[in-house]
Amino acid sequence: MVLFQEEKTDMMCSAATLSYSFTGTGVAKDFDFTDTLKIMAVSKRLQPVTTETASGGAAIVNPAVTMEGELAMYCMEVQPSSIPDSDIEWSIAQGSGNIQFYNTGNKGRSVIVRGMNEGDFKLEVAVAGDDPASPKPYILGKVLPETVTALHFFIIYDANGNPSVTETEIDLWVTELNRIYRQVAMRFTKGSVTHVKDKPHLFHIDNRAQFQELCAYASNTGGLEVYCVDWLYDGVAGRHSRWGLAVTAGAPTYVLAHEIGHACGLTDIWEGTLGNTLISEELVGWQNWSGGTGTGYYPQDLKHADLLKRLLMYRYTGDNRVDIPLGGVKGYDPDSQSPLPLLISVGLTGSTLYVSMNRNPSHY
Ligand SMILES: [Zn+2]
Repeated sequence: MVLFQEEKTDMMCSAATLSYSFTGTGVAKDFDFTDTLKIMAVSKRLQPVTTETASGGAAIVNPAVTMEGELAMYCMEVQPSSIPDSDIEWSIAQGSGNIQFYNTGNKGRSVIVRGMNEGDFKLEVAVAGDDPASPKPYILGKVLPETVTALHFFIIYDANGNPSVTETEIDLWVTELNRIYRQVAMRFTKGSVTHVKDKPHLFHIDNRAQFQELCAYASNTGGLEVYCVDWLYDGVAGRHSRWGLAVTAGAPTYVLAHEIGHACGLTDIWEGTLGNTLISEELVGWQNWSGGTGTGYYPQDLKHADLLKRLLMYRYTGDNRVDIPLGGVKGYDPDSQSPLPLLISVGLTGSTLYVSMNRNPSHY
């Protein structure tokens, strides 16, 4: 009699154990054995466009930029967890003079690198036991020096002497701003805070003319002018123009960062008709890809619309829109009438088709 028994021993790790046994009878009564065969499906995820943070830290991992002289963390998820970190090896495939592995080494699910010299780099990952013919996961990045931009805040007061926004709220915005922009080696300082008590009619910005009047309050500060108001027309949390930007009381902390993205030349993006389309290299952009075919080393079921919601420049509100990718991403510019998705400027580098990010923004 031959018995076969198959069981999934660990759904999380996609491991299956096939147990089989043979108990002989009659002339085969002396044969009696059991054995098992374990089959393990390894899953690998390396996501250049991510909102993940290092465990226990606030820093966004897999940044487009490693700051010159500073450290950055790059992470890859390898399942099952029984695969030891020592089987996961990172190497610098291009730009070996530009970054160095920190002294924690080049093995494991996460590595720390230090930016050494300005320039491009490519990190590649090999997992022991991989088919040598399958494409290795990789991530592209740049080493850049830090830029520093001063922010000049103008808090508009109502007729009763109430401020639209408190300095405590401004401090929270600036903290989140600097967390987000570290991905592109940009830093912002609170250059000045002006309490504007003689323009109560600008407490509520009800139309475009008032917004223009607001943005004309100060000019040529050498940095960015940020106007804090109680309300903006159309009920939006932030608005940008080349003369200044405005953020409302109670705006989610990333809104200031999003509007400053516009000051850096970036464009809003949304998914349009791409709602149910899975991501691909063509849509995500080659600089934001990590190798492989289909969905590459992103989750196999990741929709392009959900990837767009990770971007700082995503048009609509959302919980975790903080990624500034290395290159442009395909989608729809809300102001464009194009029936086809376009490559949109939502990241650091441009091409002849779209503009790159200006890391030294200023208002007129
Ligand atoms: Zn926008």
